[in-house]
Order: sequence, then C-alpha cells, then structure tokens
Amino acid sequence: MIEPGQTIGILGGGQLGRMTAMAAHALGYRCHVYCPISNSPAKLVTKFSTTARYENKLALGRFAKTVDVITFEFENVPADTAEFLAERKPVRPGPNALRIAQDRLKEKDFLRSIGVATAAYHAVTSADELRRAVETVGARAVLKTVRMGYDGKGQMPIRPDTDLGAAWRNFDNASGILESFVEFACEISVIVARSEGGKWATYAAVENQHLHGILDTTIAPARISSDVAMRAEAIARHIAEKLELIGLLAVEMFVTHDGEVLVNEIAPRPHNSGHWTIDACYTSQFEQLVRAICGLPLGSPAHHSDAVMKNLIGADIAKWREAIHDPLQKVHLYGKDEASPGRKMGHVTKLIPRR
Ligand code: AMP
Repeated sequence: MIEPGQTIGILGGGQLGRMTAMAAHALGYRCHVYCPISNSPAKLVTKFSTTARYENKLALGRFAKTVDVITFEFENVPADTAEFLAERKPVRPGPNALRIAQDRLKEKDFLRSIGVATAAYHAVTSADELRRAVETVGARAVLKTVRMGYDGKGQMPIRPDTDLGAAWRNFDNASGILESFVEFACEISVIVARSEGGKWATYAAVENQHLHGILDTTIAPARISSDVAMRAEAIARHIAEKLELIGLLAVEMFVTHDGEVLVNEIAPRPHNSGHWTIDACYTSQFEQLVRAICGLPLGSPAHHSDAVMKNLIGADIAKWREAIHDPLQKVHLYGKDEASPGRKMGHVTKLIPRR
C-alpha cells in the first residue's frame, strides 16, 4: 500500500491533474506534477513539480526517484515515457492502457478483439484508401486523426457529396481512421475504478451533450433505460478487466435509437464527464483514482444527488459570478489566466438532491 504521506507522481498538469492532486492532498498524500508547461493548473496546487519535456530522460529519472507511484491525467503522454518510468516505479494505469487509448486505430482494434461493438471503421493512409473506406463504412462518416485527437480536434465530416481527393488533402495527416456516422439517440459515458485484486467501483452512466466536439453538459444519471445503463456499465467493466487496469477508465459510448450501445472512445484517467462526482457522489472520481493506485479500499461511487454539470468554456468563465449565488450550484475554476475559445476554464455542477 502507498501510505498517506508518500508521494504520487502525476504526468500532465491540466485541470484533471489539479483535481487529482486536491483529492490526494485531502487524504494526506504529497503530489509531484511533471509537465512541460510551468504554472499549469495542477502545478498551482502542488508544492513539488518538474517542468521538462516528456522525452527528457534525465528529468524523468529524477522525477521517478522522488515519487512512490505514478499516474497520468493526459493520455497523450508518450507511451515510451510511461514505459521508462514503469521500469523505476509503479505506473498505474500501466503503459499498455496508455498505448491503446492514444491511438484510435489500436483502440478500435482492441475493442473489436474483445468483442465490444463500435461504429464501422477503416484505416486510411491515402486518398485511394479513403475511397475504399467510404465503400466499406458508408458515405456518411467521420474522418479522424489516429493520434492526438481530442475535444473534436482533427475530425472531418464526410458526406455523400464530399470530394474525397480534396478532403484527404485538407485533412493533412499521414494516417486517419474513417468511422461511419452514428445516428445516436444520445451519448453516454461510464467511469469505472478497478483496484489491485480486481475490486470494482462503477459510477452511474451519465449523458453527455457536446458542442463543436467539446463536452458542454453532463446529465447525471443518464436518461436511459436501466437495461441500457446496465449493459453500458458491464461494457466498461469488461474493457477495464481486459486492460488489467488499476485506476480509472472512462468509456464514451453512443446509444442508438434501437438501444444498441457502441463504444466511441476510452480514456484510462479521470474524465470531464465525471466532474459531477466531486459534489454529487460519496467518493469523487479523483479520490477513487487515488484510492485505486495507492491500494486503499475503493470508496462508494453512489450518488446522493442527481446533477447537471456544465463546462465553462472560453468566455463562459464569466458565468461563475451568477452561479456562485445559488447554494445548489458548485463552482470549480481551474486557475487558467487566458480564456481562449474552446479552452476549458472551469465547470459548474448543479445539484438536484434526491428525496
Ligand atoms: P471524439 O473526439 O471521438 O470523442 O468525438 C467528439 C464528438 O464528435 C463525439 O462526442 C460525438 O458527438 C461526435 N462524433 C465522433 N465520432 C462520431 C461518429 N462516428 N458518429 C457520430 N458522431 C460522432
């Protein structure tokens, strides 16, 4: 067991790392944040930090010496970095989960190999291959970058009238994945925690509404049948088990109009759609991550309130001034200076106490 007083290393310095560190501090742990950006949101709340590139082996080696366990809040940390660190200290979840989650093609192949349903997809590395992919997955589709895509970045809609040659040139990436467009009834996600020895905590499935590819609102719990919710939760546990994951796994899914559940993406880390758990659940996703990676017993993932979480994106940050007056709205700000468009600046969770 990693005891309170010992040090958790966090790769990545964004708001997910910040909230992980805050939960770790509440349990008496120390945190050391490693990321290339100084003054990042997580570094503002931790005493120990390293500002260096993820490829800097000297800095990574020094970092590993100061920590007892390592986790990450950002899945685009190079998998080689996680592997280098894993030779020195436990990295939870492991480098394998990271390698799969940061490559959309590996991710979909992995899901297919363990019997999890996804949208039809096809790898694309040329305009000719894009034409063949359209024949396989259909003319209404989404072309996505294989790597470094998040918050709707690196995505291009494909329609029956799209000029595929021009689309490929504009895509401007060496490799892509074409996915059929899913006419979903809603988007949901499930977050599961898994600890050593295979103990589980599963949060209620939540409903996610996106704007311009970025999460805007999470409604907890999701307005879906208990049958769909149970299947979604079972899928999330199945994936975490096959990854032999220790930590948190967020699974984003589409629910189709006939109740089919298709997995879109997985993230082996805390997730924006789990922010509601801070205020509405007995144990937040961040505390749960700390418990799982330190070998503490998992806490209850049950919720005492329903909730609606809204992200404060870009200029929306100003909305905290109104929300702060409402006793049932919990305001979280990430300490970022510049409110550029599309940047997640904070979130507000409106609690709806259960009677
Ligand atoms: P992603 O970066 O894959 O999470 O995609 C961001 C958002 O784009 C998703 O949450 C969906 O709203 C939308 N999207 C992504 N892939 C598809 C798809 N195959 N069919 C329909 N909508 C999609």
